[in-house]
Amino acid sequence: MISENFKIIRSQIPENVCLVAVSKTKPKELILEAYNLGQRHFGENKVQELSEKASELPKDIQWHLIGHLQTNKVKYIAEFVHLIHAVDSLKLLQEINKQALKHNRVIACLLQFHIADEETKFGLSREEAKLLLSSESYSGLQNIKIIGVMGMASFVDDTNQIRNEFKALQAIFSEIKHNYFSDQTSFKEISMGMSGDFQLAIEEGSTMVRIGSSLFS
Ligand SMILES: *Cc1c(COP(=O)(O)O)cnc(C)c1O
Repeated sequence: MISENFKIIRSQIPENVCLVAVSKTKPKELILEAYNLGQRHFGENKVQELSEKASELPKDIQWHLIGHLQTNKVKYIAEFVHLIHAVDSLKLLQEINKQALKHNRVIACLLQFHIADEETKFGLSREEAKLLLSSESYSGLQNIKIIGVMGMASFVDDTNQIRNEFKALQAIFSEIKHNYFSDQTSFKEISMGMSGDFQLAIEEGSTMVRIGSSLFS
């Protein structure tokens, strides 16, 4: 029963932290079950799966794309996506801007940072983010809005390491907020924390947790 899972997880998340229910690979019946429990924010990591589900499920669901996004796929989600979590290049932001403009929208985005120890090609470094945010091309983008940062901790058992990675993301958020968004109240989100580590993430300042397996299994 997922109702029990939702009850348990929700009881561990403060009111001001957004629960994104990660429904990737889950059938739409299960998503509807969660919807009927009041859940409205859902996260998917693949564009095709996201757009199929969005077309068939209730229109007041707020869909989060949490996985890596290729520029050539932005057009499939631009009309409806609520928040894109994993923006990691100027090129991708420019394409999101272009597609958002076609639908007369402003699409909310998070900058993904590489905080884990592990080798992965995704996520910005602080230096790359600085270059992006101070570039002229970025300042001209009217149809995107960066509202915070996102990161994934290493898949390790060492809670100290995980905590330190979350602390690092919180520090990056504060630095960027101070340097580039000090006058924008909309820049306020830190998307961090999954089934295995969301409590640590909340202790370290997460405003948005992305939880899949603990809810849907
Ligand atoms: C799958 C996924 C999650 C959810 O992970 P669980 O361990 O199932 O809670 C969170 N974030 C991203 C980016 C994911 O791909």
